[in-house]
Amino acid sequence: ITFEALGLDETLVKATSALGFEHPTPIQEKAIPVLLSGTKDLIGLAQTGTGKTAAFSLPLLQLINPNQKYPQALIVCPTRELCLQIVHEIELFKKFKQQIQVVAVYGGSSIGLQIRDLKKGVHIVVATPGRLIDLIERKAIQLDQISYVVLDEADEMLNMGFKDDIEFILENTPKRESTWLFSATMPPEIKRVSKKYMHEPFEITV
Ligand code: AMP
Repeated sequence: ITFEALGLDETLVKATSALGFEHPTPIQEKAIPVLLSGTKDLIGLAQTGTGKTAAFSLPLLQLINPNQKYPQALIVCPTRELCLQIVHEIELFKKFKQQIQVVAVYGGSSIGLQIRDLKKGVHIVVATPGRLIDLIERKAIQLDQISYVVLDEADEMLNMGFKDDIEFILENTPKRESTWLFSATMPPEIKRVSKKYMHEPFEITV
């Protein structure tokens, strides 16, 4: 199967071939067509190394509207390293969609610079929970037009004690249409969060 057959547009297909991706990985094959439908919630049980970053990033790049310069997608992940890695991959995937702006916000780095980046107008925000809450409290980030929320490595975030932060984020994204949760394991706490904030999620295991 090809990336094209999954419903991705030409610029994204071109980006995947420029990166040398020959075929979608199993999670990409299962998730991308579902996520492109736009309004469906999804739970993906997947480890790192399975290609899950592309599985959610490619659909986001197709679904967001580049002409609306406010955050439309929010990706929340446990660590600064993962945050930077996700932004790096998105930068590669959006090679032929340069209008789309993505920003990383994470702790241990100047909040002033991140606020300045956010003010320039961004479409996709990749964030760690603590710094994101800080920005919300300072009213330095606009979440009222977020349609898509991705929780990456959800089990790690709960292990690190971010449960209340995650719930706060989900409660403060009033226009959230789709929630995509990725996790290597499915402990009861994640089941509870998904029951509370997601609607009949489509489940994928790889
Ligand atoms: P991830 O599981 O998202 O951390 O991805 C693991 C690595 O696999 C990353 O370096 C990706 O660039 C790479 N990758 C993702 N999808 C594909 C694919 N379809 N073909 C080849 N490499 C891929």
